[in-house]
Amino acid sequence: MSSSIRFVSPSLFFLLWIFFVHLAGIYLFTSGFLLTRLALTNVTACNDGSCTLPPTHKRAIVLIIDSLRFDFIAPAPYIPSENNAEYSVHHHLTLTLPSLLTDAHPRNSFIFNSYPDPPTVTLQRIKGLTTGSLPTFVDIGSSFGGSEIEEDSIIGQVGMNGKEAAFIGDDTWMNVFPNAFHVNMTWPYDSFNVEDLHTVDNGVITHLFPLLESGNTPDLIIGHFLGVDHVGHRVGPYHHSMHSKLLQMNATLTRVVDSLSDDTLLVVLGDHGMDRAGDHGGDGQLETSAGVWIYSKSIPLCDDEKISNKIPSQLLPYTTFPDADSPHRYIQQIDLVPTLSLLLGLPIPFGNLGTVIPELFWRQSNPPQNPTEESWGWGSIRKTAVKDEDRSRASSLIRALRLNALQIHTYLDTYRLSSSGAELDDAWLTLESAWNGTHVDEELALVNLWDYTRLALSSCRSIWAQFNPLLMVLGLVLFSASLLSTYSVYSGIGKVTSSHLDPATQTTVVWEDWLIARMWQALRGLAAGSTLGFLASLTYETQLKTFGKGMDSLDCILFMAPFVSCVMVGKLSLSKILGLLPPMSNILKTLPFVLHAISFFSNSFTFWEDRIIAFLLPSSLIPHVFIGLRAPTARLRRRILGFTGLLVVCIRLMAVSTVCREEQHPYCHVTFYSSLSSSSALESTYTSTVVPPSASSSSAPTFAVIGAPLMAILLPIILSRCLKQSKSDQGLATVWFNWIMTPSLFCGSVYWLIEYVETAGLVDESEWGAVLRFCRTFLSRAALGWSVVVGGVVWWKHPLCISIETSEGQRQIKILGFANAYGAPYMLFWTIPFSAVWATTQLTGQIVLGLSAIALMSYLEIIDGIRDVLMVEEAFTSNRLSDILPSGDDFALGATQNNHSPNVKFYEITPVILLAMHLFFRTGHQSTIPSIQWKSSFLLTSTLTYPWAGTFIINTLGPIWVILTGVGLVGVWLKGPRFSSVPSPKETQKDSQQSPPVVSADDQIQLSILLCSLCVSMYLMTILLTTSLSASILRRHLMVWKVFAPRWILGTVVVLVGDVSLLMVYVGAWQVRRVVERTFSRMMGQALT
Ligand SMILES: [Zn+2]
Ligand SMILES: [Zn+2]
Repeated sequence: MSSSIRFVSPSLFFLLWIFFVHLAGIYLFTSGFLLTRLALTNVTACNDGSCTLPPTHKRAIVLIIDSLRFDFIAPAPYIPSENNAEYSVHHHLTLTLPSLLTDAHPRNSFIFNSYPDPPTVTLQRIKGLTTGSLPTFVDIGSSFGGSEIEEDSIIGQVGMNGKEAAFIGDDTWMNVFPNAFHVNMTWPYDSFNVEDLHTVDNGVITHLFPLLESGNTPDLIIGHFLGVDHVGHRVGPYHHSMHSKLLQMNATLTRVVDSLSDDTLLVVLGDHGMDRAGDHGGDGQLETSAGVWIYSKSIPLCDDEKISNKIPSQLLPYTTFPDADSPHRYIQQIDLVPTLSLLLGLPIPFGNLGTVIPELFWRQSNPPQNPTEESWGWGSIRKTAVKDEDRSRASSLIRALRLNALQIHTYLDTYRLSSSGAELDDAWLTLESAWNGTHVDEELALVNLWDYTRLALSSCRSIWAQFNPLLMVLGLVLFSASLLSTYSVYSGIGKVTSSHLDPATQTTVVWEDWLIARMWQALRGLAAGSTLGFLASLTYETQLKTFGKGMDSLDCILFMAPFVSCVMVGKLSLSKILGLLPPMSNILKTLPFVLHAISFFSNSFTFWEDRIIAFLLPSSLIPHVFIGLRAPTARLRRRILGFTGLLVVCIRLMAVSTVCREEQHPYCHVTFYSSLSSSSALESTYTSTVVPPSASSSSAPTFAVIGAPLMAILLPIILSRCLKQSKSDQGLATVWFNWIMTPSLFCGSVYWLIEYVETAGLVDESEWGAVLRFCRTFLSRAALGWSVVVGGVVWWKHPLCISIETSEGQRQIKILGFANAYGAPYMLFWTIPFSAVWATTQLTGQIVLGLSAIALMSYLEIIDGIRDVLMVEEAFTSNRLSDILPSGDDFALGATQNNHSPNVKFYEITPVILLAMHLFFRTGHQSTIPSIQWKSSFLLTSTLTYPWAGTFIINTLGPIWVILTGVGLVGVWLKGPRFSSVPSPKETQKDSQQSPPVVSADDQIQLSILLCSLCVSMYLMTILLTTSLSASILRRHLMVWKVFAPRWILGTVVVLVGDVSLLMVYVGAWQVRRVVERTFSRMMGQALT
């Protein structure tokens, strides 16, 4: 009868189908949400000065006043009067120096309203301000996840051209330019403490003036004040503290101007604005209005006050600040990059997308031979005709614009040839024709060059810096559709089986037939959907271009096919969807799940998720405790409550191990790594923000050094004891733990012990380094090879854990381990991924892994106890007590174990998934990129070699993978094979008396595995749905790149890991069922003939 177990069953089909729908949804959502850009490392360089202009200034002082909104320095944006509600004495007309000087020296002083690209966060703005590029979430580069700038920048150009740069202020700069500033002229201050309004500012003031007044002022000074920003965050702009802060800034700037030398350019700017509450990060008008003031003491920046009459108005755009009376000059913040570069005689950074500010290049191109004392070179204006002057000025601006446009064109060309070049496909033709339009005579060139640079900026913005809401919504719709149809299948199967449970042998037909019908619906849906999608993309091609920007026919098909399929599988309609809501009692049981799902809308809940899980996990056991309390026998009650206690103890012990996110300081103490290294990371907050503690400290605490090898030896003994309870420590189990699992775990622990010895510096590196590394590599390969390859093969051949004793002339068979005939082999199967993850996990994590295995085993006992309770209760209510009592004429095989209802409840699976997340956090991970343990990528080789370096993926996601694979155990634990003595039709014809009883393809096992899988799938999909929703709703939130987007990425990979784990569960359970059926059928045949 082994043919009755088909490998391609409707269950497998549904797992693959769900996987496909998930992939399609993730693909669509990701292409709409994840802003990526390839960071090119090219730099602009030329030996002959052809890529820049002669400098007008020898040095520059760039002072960043964090959150300096435009109206803080604007020349009276609001007329102060009683009926003007917008005017505020706290921040208007307080920092007046810029507007006073602009009034007095219109050729030397300029104020602009600048547009910083959102997200208006300091880190992203520093990147933009120095490279001229657009913000993206992932700058794909060589050091993924680090914040160091790898692209060409103005700071880099200063260094490359033999100049010196000094830095004082917000230490964020040290993250992005760790090595760019002069070692003796760098004074970073912690930016983390928003409560502290003055330390950073006082620090800047202390170090700035000695630099300015000393003989050798560096060529570039960056000063970054944080006070205005901190006042904003703390009390908002409508508070007297803001007034005094701005007065302090005014006084500081006045002193700077006084000590400014003639050849120094002063740039004062806000990296972004602030909203009415004083916060920033989003794309609101107030947040994206930052003030810029450019001042030159004696050299005029522009030699004509009436420039607006001379050049086309499109080059000089204006904008009106909200509720202001008149418009102001408006620039892009990144325009400062090419402008500053050319004014200082530096090449424009390679990836810049800004355009030079026209006013500052409107001057006669060739300084006369004998400059008069009036200014730097334009004394001879009166001698030449007006028209020639303007032509000369225009050609000077054209030269600047040409260099600018050429740099952008080179950048786009290079990007186009890179691996990500296809991103520019849509915009390429327009860009090229605009570029060709710049090769014209002077008059037209001015406009065309300007247009080209602006077209490049807007094209790149639409590719890199704009979310695609349509694709995001389509992704979210698919997530919801897959969730609803999965639930519909889950509840549908539950209904068919419970209504047909009585004739036990009939269930196979009923639920499989039902599922096969749904399978055909799914296939029809896929076919119909892809046709519809294809036709839609053809018919509405033109509409798609305008309405569905960035959407192609592949996207159409990838949406329609799974969507129609989901609708047909779930038979979804609005009334049905409302009807799908589970009853109230179930909602209470699923409360931990609901709380977990909605917590991602809050940033603080998201970054305290590790603690929240540690709380939700025990809470999810409350339904189990209630059932345990009403158990009919004291023994059963003790069993359920005792194991619940053990499980809670394991959870608590696991929770001892922590790593901290940056945001959790100072309320978090690292215990995953040794206290020595974590305290050194905390010693200065500066270090802890530069290098996250999880990455910097790397050695295990002392207790782990002893605990991990001990756990490696104890755990197999404990697992073996678990099997002994059901007498299934037979067969393969007799050798498995001693010869497969223990050696593998032990090798894995010794690997990390050696690593510990090396990093702790306990041995002489030069003498022992090579030997130790050789031993380590050997051990890790041995650990993985032994458990995965050898263990895998042995298990596949002989997975069973039973032994057969025959007596009395073969008339009575005693099978040891019968009751757990499925569970025991599956547990051995489960230890294979467990051992693999063990080898990649550091010492502290290994102890936690061991505890999680004990926790999972306790949970299996709880679940089995609960099923016993429910079964007895059901039997009492239906008066079918005989069902649960062993009937005399049966085989003496403990048939009582077999009558568990196959239905799996969602609340039974919730603790397992929470345990998976708990294990993820407790093995030294957080949902942040810096918490990845890169160390584990050197497990199998001493150098970074693909694909072996991928072991860090096992390290990161393995904990989740292991526990989710363990879900299969919940489905099969302590369920013996079922016997069917109903002869098959063929045999009836021959001789019904002689036909042996056969073991049916145990549909109950298959069914409960499928239901477990559907529960896991629903749980993980819900988490992905809520994390995606929060990331898309809060996509302009201050914390999106730090908190929501990383959590969304984790949600995405967890869904994929979940789908893979479920396929593994299927394969493992399939093999167990196949072998069990074959063995027992043969045995029964022998016994009865
Ligand atoms: Zn800022
Ligand atoms: Zn801020």
